[in-house]
Amino acid sequence: MRPPCEGTPEMIDPRGIIDEFCDLVRIDSPSLREAEVVAAIRDRLAEIGVESETDGASEAVGGEVGNLIARVPGDTNAPTVLINAHVDTVEPGRGICPRVEGTVIRSDGTTVLGADDKSGVTIILAMLRHVLGEGLPHPPLEVVFTVAEEIGLCGAKALDYDSLEAEMGYVLDGGRTMGVITHAAPSAYRLAWEVRGVAAHAGVCPERGINSIRVAAEAIAEMPLGRLDHETTANIGVIEGGGATNIVPELTVVGGEARSHNDGKLERQKDLMVGAFETAARRHNAEVGSDVAMTYRSFHIAEDEPALRYAWRASENLGIRPRTERGGGGSDANIFNERGTPSVILATGPADVHTVKESVDAERMVESARWLTEILGMIAADAHA
Ligand SMILES: [Zn+2]
Repeated sequence: MRPPCEGTPEMIDPRGIIDEFCDLVRIDSPSLREAEVVAAIRDRLAEIGVESETDGASEAVGGEVGNLIARVPGDTNAPTVLINAHVDTVEPGRGICPRVEGTVIRSDGTTVLGADDKSGVTIILAMLRHVLGEGLPHPPLEVVFTVAEEIGLCGAKALDYDSLEAEMGYVLDGGRTMGVITHAAPSAYRLAWEVRGVAAHAGVCPERGINSIRVAAEAIAEMPLGRLDHETTANIGVIEGGGATNIVPELTVVGGEARSHNDGKLERQKDLMVGAFETAARRHNAEVGSDVAMTYRSFHIAEDEPALRYAWRASENLGIRPRTERGGGGSDANIFNERGTPSVILATGPADVHTVKESVDAERMVESARWLTEILGMIAADAHA
């Protein structure tokens, strides 16, 4: 085992990371409003000597700007590697005011911090600055900064995969603990229902009405929800119906989701949820329309796949205990895997993401940047083994 910093002393230092990270989170970048942050990342890439261009995804996703793509030439004997982070952040995420205490960065408590995923962006920039600045060995890279990840992986879905050559990928969009490699994620369905009953005066002639809220309630009460087993979850998260207490409600709209690492279980759960609405609607002579959309597909990277193997060995080399984890949510990695680039997610350091308590320790971002550097060095070295 080698000590963590061998050969890479001050090049990736926490101060530089803190400054770059704070600059990036001060730029508002809610999903679909990413033009300013993409321009800033583009300038930083240019400073490092890396040319980049945006793709045509803005039209497909309905946002200000497309994905930012940089092709970095490298050792041509080595396979091309995709490196990714997303540039959009969740709400409340405007006017972020980062507070630095030691090496830990938080928001002022009124917004998220945006470490999801500007920690990933910062780490990629730090890695490129370091690797290219020092002339360290690395494979050819396709660096992709995606837009609109948080609203349904839209940027990644709109990427032109025919123009990418990468044989494996690293998504810098992980959690707090260094060494954690997310190698699997569930499939997910987004489900919506429109229950249509019949309106009637609730006091004068309720028997002429069909209560759509009642139908929806019976359907929801019938279906299994929550954590269903070690790999499957389901939720009803939105319900809207009725207009006044003295009217039998005609229309109720319900929204939910189901996720599973097991596609068979996911299909069954989706069918149960849809079936519950149909049964309840029949019972009351109501009508129901179901809208079912697959949000993303599951993936599972095997132990012997290069993307996982290099991440594992590189972590060991840095003296950080590697560990694989199954993710509970979707990320751009789902899309890259679905489109043929085996990709894993690397820890980038943030805690409590999607809350106003979100924080990140710059030391973890430094470790993550070193980890990525080590992975790329090993891939290049193996090409000549
Ligand atoms: Zn993220």
